[in-house]
Amino acid sequence: MSDSERSIFSRIIAREIPATVVAETDTLIAIEDIAPQAPVHLLVIPKTEAYRDVAELAAGDPGLMAEMVALAQQLAAERADGDFRLVFNTGPAAGQTVFHVHAHVLAGVLGEGTLA
Ligand code: 5GP
Repeated sequence: MSDSERSIFSRIIAREIPATVVAETDTLIAIEDIAPQAPVHLLVIPKTEAYRDVAELAAGDPGLMAEMVALAQQLAAERADGDFRLVFNTGPAAGQTVFHVHAHVLAGVLGEGTLA
């Protein structure tokens, strides 16, 4: 696969570009989002490039999706009060910009009535 075909997240996983890594397992990496939208804004990313979005992941490897939720829960407990919002932007019209499945983990004081 050429560099231009690899996702930014694959390059972060390979340590080709820097990121603040907050957790790593055999199958997942968690990093701080470069443009945080909440007091805690992490990205939980499968190391595999096999799935472009959460719909593909759920169909192809639901166990890996469950691992993502478990890691999100662990990080929200470590870094906030344990409550968290898990967001999977799915498709360009929904705001997805990186087509390597990832979960946004949002926690901390999110503000009144914020849903975005
Ligand atoms: P999406 O819009 O695809 O749901 O989410 C992509 C997320 O990746 C965005 O929140 C964006 O801020 C984040 N992001 C994009 N490039 C980088 C990067 O190079 N490093 C980090 N840490 N986050 C990034």
